[in-house]
Amino acid sequence: NCQDTTLDSITARFAATKSSAIDIEEESCLSRNQSVLYRKSSPHKPSSYLVSKLRSYEELHKRCGPRTNSYKRSLKQLKSGQIDHDSGDCKYVVWVADCGLGNRILSITSAFLYALLTDRVLLINQEQEMVDLFCEPFPTSSWILPQDFPFKNKMSGFNQKVGHSYGNLLKSNTINYSTPMLPSYLYLYLSHDCDHDDQLFFCDQDQALLSKVPWLIMRSNVYFLPSMFLMSSFDQELDKLFPDKETVFHHLGRYLFHPSDRVWGLITKYYQDYLAKAEKRIGIQIRIFSAKTSPFGSVMDQILSCIQKEKLLPEVDTEKSIASPSKNQTSKVVLVTSLFQGYFEKLNKMYGEHPTKTGEVVAVYQPSHERKQQSWENSHNVQAWVEIYLLSLSDELVTSAWSTFGYVAQGLRGMRPLILYKIGRAIPDPPCGRGVSMEPCYHAPPIFDCKTKKTVDTTTFVSHVKHCEDIRWGIKLF
Ligand code: GDP
Repeated sequence: NCQDTTLDSITARFAATKSSAIDIEEESCLSRNQSVLYRKSSPHKPSSYLVSKLRSYEELHKRCGPRTNSYKRSLKQLKSGQIDHDSGDCKYVVWVADCGLGNRILSITSAFLYALLTDRVLLINQEQEMVDLFCEPFPTSSWILPQDFPFKNKMSGFNQKVGHSYGNLLKSNTINYSTPMLPSYLYLYLSHDCDHDDQLFFCDQDQALLSKVPWLIMRSNVYFLPSMFLMSSFDQELDKLFPDKETVFHHLGRYLFHPSDRVWGLITKYYQDYLAKAEKRIGIQIRIFSAKTSPFGSVMDQILSCIQKEKLLPEVDTEKSIASPSKNQTSKVVLVTSLFQGYFEKLNKMYGEHPTKTGEVVAVYQPSHERKQQSWENSHNVQAWVEIYLLSLSDELVTSAWSTFGYVAQGLRGMRPLILYKIGRAIPDPPCGRGVSMEPCYHAPPIFDCKTKKTVDTTTFVSHVKHCEDIRWGIKLF
């Protein structure tokens, strides 16, 4: 399986390079080796081209990563503001965080694929809220941007309005396609609210310009990766890397995001205490973006109706109280994740008080109910990561429309989820439906043609990009 292929070779590389691991402290990463004990092996194999590309990327990262001589030379160039062609051959993309953990994981993955395609090294500007969530993904080097990076303190304040972003420089004509002297760094603003000029990033002509700039500092909170599949600069390479377009996040996500030992301890303990013994695990992710538009009663009815329609769980016999369990019962366990407790309470009461009509025993659990999103809190992100990962260990997955939290779980799992459609004036009919692919949705893609600058439906450009089932203006690979 693909997980084994990647794991084996990485593990071997870690072992082989142990004695020369001087760049970063020898790091333990239990999940890297142990995940095979918990995860279903993936039926999706990575292409051998992707595997070899990752190996070459690891070499590049080792050569150009933090604290190397090449990195030091490149920093000098960054500080000077000018491109100096003798300053080495390393180029970088620095990722800057925005929003919740699901959004972050998806935008890091997009930035990583961009780095792979453009021979850049990906460095993560890690704020304290993300410390010790993930293992280092690349052997004998670090992807964390060093503390003494020149603009480190300014980066979290970088938004759409900053005058020196690429989009704004184009707008003010400070930079154009024939500018002879390009700066040694540029800011790219690619979050959900980026504008037309920011989105020129997705045009081949702009990529030609950007390829000359050694440092790109990128802020994004979206899965912008599908738009790279619409660009002719990258399409041949992407075809070789990903013959199966539905598995891009599945492969890259499993490659990049291994829970740290601290997080892994929590995942495995919860799994063993509550989920391991069941014959079937059903994950239900309930994300409420607005209590006003998604009132509790309607969402609960939608969930129950989805469960029934899709035959996910047996019906209960409300005439009877819980009887002693029959001998040949099968057992199902439901993992509910939500910021709120009410959905779990209702399901738990239902299956706790009445027997099922099939005689199966159903247990319901919810690891936490944090009430509010607090993405600047480290412990809150730990809990979010634990739950995303636990969801990804399910046999069946129900997710909420629009939620990147759910997208990450489905992608790591490698499964097309049942999506609870967004509630409008009424509960949607059907209440949920199978995703067309396991890929995440890009919520805010460009909607113009780079050549004519006219508005177009970009999904007509290629056969493997569609509009998302949960956001009609979003696009996804399938
Ligand atoms: P999205 O907003 O649903 O696209 O997902 P994000 O992960 O980007 O942001 C939502 C954040 O809210 C998460 O990262 C968590 O911090 C928190 N959150 C939302 N739903 C849950 C949940 O079911 N469990 C936990 N522990 N946290 C959640």
